[in-house]
Amino acid sequence: MIIVSGPSGAGKGTLIERILGRMPHVCVAVSATTRGMRPGEVDGEDYHFLTRDEFARRVDAGDFLEHVTYAGNRYGTLRSEVERQLAAGRSVVLEIELRGARAVRQRLPEAVSVFIEPPSLEELVRRLRNRNTEADADIAARLAESRVELQAMEEFDHKVLNDDVDAASAELARIVDGVTRAGAS
Ligand code: 5GP
Repeated sequence: MIIVSGPSGAGKGTLIERILGRMPHVCVAVSATTRGMRPGEVDGEDYHFLTRDEFARRVDAGDFLEHVTYAGNRYGTLRSEVERQLAAGRSVVLEIELRGARAVRQRLPEAVSVFIEPPSLEELVRRLRNRNTEADADIAARLAESRVELQAMEEFDHKVLNDDVDAASAELARIVDGVTRAGAS
């Protein structure tokens, strides 16, 4: 199990997408969320998009390995997703924010955690604005979360600075490769 964390806009998704293309034995667990779909997102691929009621019902049913409220929406890792991939013999990547990463590390201390570091807070703001998918209030909420997340990066096993996508994805691939070779999933 590999946890990939770091602020919104640091480029976690892009880096993970890059390495999955090269590593067929590695997959990402599709999380559930209550946030609205962005243009181009596909239900069941990017997220399982749930209503607030459905999400709450699945919390009560114990379906989540971890779940949080982030910038006003709920996000959670579905146990079923993780178990399905592990049963198929794949290494599983969780792309999750800080509190989720802490919860998973506590439950599964063998998990290897990676923090994706943006070049600077200014660059993070620029990326969030350029993405053009979030309203100003949401960007502000994400930046507030990011400040806390940046202060916690030393808790992670590895840090990857994402100022160059090619170099950063190569570094993440090396880390993930090391985990899968070590036989840990
Ligand atoms: P976004 O709305 O930009 O897709 O995601 C917002 C934040 O939630 C990102 O930092 C993302 O990594 C994180 N996230 C996505 N899925 C999960 C999850 O299942 N659990 C937790 N704790 N965070 C998640």
